[in-house]
Amino acid sequence: MDPSLLSDASKRLENALQYVSLSEDVTERLKYPKASLQVSIPVRMDNGSLRVFQGYRVRYDDTRGPTKGGIRFHPHVNLDEVQSLAFWMTFKCAVVNLPFGGAKGGITVNPKELSRLELERLSRGYIDAIADFIGPDIDIPAPDVYTNPMIMGWMMDQYSIIRRQIIPAVITGKPISMGGSLGRETATAMGAFFTIEAMLPRFDRSPAETTIAIQGFGNAGGLLADLLARAGYRIVAVSDSQGGIYSSKGLNIPGIRQYKESSRSIQAAYCEGSVCSIVEHEIITNDDLLTLDVDILIPAALENQITSTNAPHVNARLVFEVANGPITSDADLILESKGIKVFPDILVNAGGVTVSYFEWVQNRNGLYWALEEVNQHLKHRIVEEAGAIWQTSQDLKVSLRTAAYIHALNRLGDAIQSRGTRDYYVNTVKRL
Ligand code: NAD
Repeated sequence: MDPSLLSDASKRLENALQYVSLSEDVTERLKYPKASLQVSIPVRMDNGSLRVFQGYRVRYDDTRGPTKGGIRFHPHVNLDEVQSLAFWMTFKCAVVNLPFGGAKGGITVNPKELSRLELERLSRGYIDAIADFIGPDIDIPAPDVYTNPMIMGWMMDQYSIIRRQIIPAVITGKPISMGGSLGRETATAMGAFFTIEAMLPRFDRSPAETTIAIQGFGNAGGLLADLLARAGYRIVAVSDSQGGIYSSKGLNIPGIRQYKESSRSIQAAYCEGSVCSIVEHEIITNDDLLTLDVDILIPAALENQITSTNAPHVNARLVFEVANGPITSDADLILESKGIKVFPDILVNAGGVTVSYFEWVQNRNGLYWALEEVNQHLKHRIVEEAGAIWQTSQDLKVSLRTAAYIHALNRLGDAIQSRGTRDYYVNTVKRL
């Protein structure tokens, strides 16, 4: 992650602070992570040698509850990045009113270079190293980049071995057979889908007359494309790391998904395979996709995709950020000046952490929900919070991103102020 992401996120926070009357204590408190842990994890490799990996866990703020955030396995992971992502999680949890603070963790490693057994030893070693820092009432990890349900299962098992009791609520995103929640894998796409469905009527558009371009065709983008296509929206362009395809008539999304699963490329779906040859299409680049004339643009791949360089050429009416941080703060201003409404990541992709919260609730209750129940609770929460953010943006005439930060800050501010602020103590001293 680009180190400027935290300063970018902080700029957005400063914008929101103008509209919220909070004690200076709140901003002072939110400038620093509550606790950061760096650990060395010795791992016996398959060839008998020993390698020591660096791991991190940061609990940014726990005023609203135990902290929550994923674990990333990536060669670029470092303490700064983990702190920035933990800061972001603090706001995301507050936006959707989860009783959680924000956290993040990671290991500096390229997991593709490890065998499965080495990966298991590394995952268990990480939990050995951070076991005193996490817990169902303290800090609850989850999957993030290059970690998955299998890894969460190993980690939950290791924590349970250390504590000598089965503790599924210590981690979310587990396999269903180990206490995972139905609907967790589809939750991010579902949350984004519910946000789009809730917001579209405000723009007087029906699905059939709405054209959409989606950058990124993975867990989040691919699944969201499928949900939108099934609901009757016209997906005119999709892309992955290899490039994209465009058809003004709309693409056959289920066919592309099926083909991508077997060929690992979306272009193949139209260039070589059986599904495709029948549909007219154009090959486009990722840069082309971002500037298409569409109703909705959905960046669902990486951070920093829309910058001050390409923002002037963006032609979408609405942008829904499924990726974390796909638009830089200077690009935000350009899009705003063009009248393009941007629905921010901390709302649009919050479905994942919301269903993680449901998983934690189910683990603690020992009672498991049907898929319909999970999706119903998710929809209710996302629609309610999206509606409140929309209203704040209308009332205060601010961007939806600023409105989302205001929304989160009000909740965080209330919690921090409830514990006593400078004003309270200054007045107490005066009275004495
Ligand atoms: P993924 O690895 O499953 O998919 C990423 C997709 O982006 C792939 O299709 C990949 O080919 C594509 N891609 C990579 N580089 C690209 C490029 N330069 N141009 C265009 N496409 C490119 O990841 P994911 O889980 O779908 O996550 C995507 C984004 O959504 C990330 O920013 C992630 O942080 C965010 N997100 C995901 C979840 C979740 O639950 N999956 C939750 C919250 C946020």
